[in-house]
Amino acid sequence: MENHENKVVHCLILPYPAQGHINPMLQFSKRLEAKGVKISIAITKFLLTTLQDLSSSHLSIETISDGFDEGCSSQTRSSQAYIDKFREVGSETLARVLRRLRAGRFPVSCVAYDAFLPWVVDVAVEEGVSGACFFTQSCAVDAIYYYTQQGRLKLPLAENQVVEIPGLPCLEPKDMPSFIYSPESYPFVLDMLVDQFCNVEKADWILINTFYELERQVIDWMRKLWVVQAIGPTIPSVYLDNRLPDDKEYGLSVFKPMTEVCIKWLDDQQDGSVVYVSFGSMVHLQEEQMEELAWALRRSNRPFLWVVRSEEANKLPRNFLKEIEEETRGLVVSWCPQLQVLIHRGVGCFLTHCGWNSTLEAISLGVPMIAIPQWSDQMTNSKLVMDKWKTGVRAQKEENGVVKREEIEEYIGRVMEDEEMRANARKWKQICREAVDVGGTSDRDIQDFVSCLATKFM
Ligand code: UDP
Repeated sequence: MENHENKVVHCLILPYPAQGHINPMLQFSKRLEAKGVKISIAITKFLLTTLQDLSSSHLSIETISDGFDEGCSSQTRSSQAYIDKFREVGSETLARVLRRLRAGRFPVSCVAYDAFLPWVVDVAVEEGVSGACFFTQSCAVDAIYYYTQQGRLKLPLAENQVVEIPGLPCLEPKDMPSFIYSPESYPFVLDMLVDQFCNVEKADWILINTFYELERQVIDWMRKLWVVQAIGPTIPSVYLDNRLPDDKEYGLSVFKPMTEVCIKWLDDQQDGSVVYVSFGSMVHLQEEQMEELAWALRRSNRPFLWVVRSEEANKLPRNFLKEIEEETRGLVVSWCPQLQVLIHRGVGCFLTHCGWNSTLEAISLGVPMIAIPQWSDQMTNSKLVMDKWKTGVRAQKEENGVVKREEIEEYIGRVMEDEEMRANARKWKQICREAVDVGGTSDRDIQDFVSCLATKFM
């Protein structure tokens, strides 16, 4: 976007280095680019070495450091030490990048940063640029963490406690993010999530990957506190028309999608017949759960496309891959192009962990869900999918946290056949389409953000 002096609005995007955070922030960048904003994206040095498809992208990439340029173990990455180091080294390296970009031909005027990195706004203020704090989780879940940060939710929760938060339905402990339900399990992660709000008043904007119609009440409540823009779903809008982007899409993926294999296989399936199964980029299923799932999929007598990441493949039952190959009713891949899969005419339902990206993608693309949440915000997302948006069912777990094969098989049948649920899924797809269309709520919130940047900082 250029103003009358032909200046270009330039925004630096800084995601937390995890796939579920990179995707929505990168997709948001594309939305901004479509409105004429120049984008640079800052990623850590190590992440840069692991990305698959950089060569095809025209992105202007800046590197910062989290202090672990050679990588670190997943244990280190989920520790307080990692976050502390990232803050220390990240602040210095980001300040250098900002100084350089401020002095360049198109001076950067804003950093849109992941809410997991609340220190970024301090660097932004110091360097004279504005800060937009980007929340990759739902507004409902953000509200829960904010309530906790404010000390209004006393932890641990009592067993039968009913949690009431403005704009949200009553929530039982099992509906709360797992870090709240059992704070002792990952105390550091809970601190990090609650800390998303520690600096938030310094940010000029709060951007949330949701859309107004989906979370109206809780967004209204949050708008009493801050300037909140509901800019989602960030997925490219062509997908909402069941089309693929014309040009080769650029992405930043840590995993290599088996696109051709998946689409070729889906092309051979009947309309609405396939159960698509994925637990996202981070979940590690119990071996017993993998086995129950494998059996349920075979017993369901429906074609299935199951994403099993390579590090999870050894948990599949012995001979499973060989047997399904012979039956030709199922396909297991290590990663797929999920948006392409969800819009494929062959897909009838999505068996998901209910990570927020997957949930929002399924809602936006009208695919009903069977939710088997594992941890984090997945508990809350699946509660809302079932009881508020009514586009899916949440599976009941046994004592040991596993959902049995008979249950899964029954849920699959229910979701594939429940006309009311399927009609709801179609209804949400339409509402979402209207939100992202020119003049819709999501489009307006992005436009407001861009216009404000243009007038305020040029
Ligand atoms: N995804 C994908 N291919 C796959 C599985 C997942 O492209 O085979 C994408 C999916 O579209 C979503 C992201 O990976 O954008 C997963 O994010 P989510 O929040 O659902 O789960 P997380 O990985 O953070 O647990």
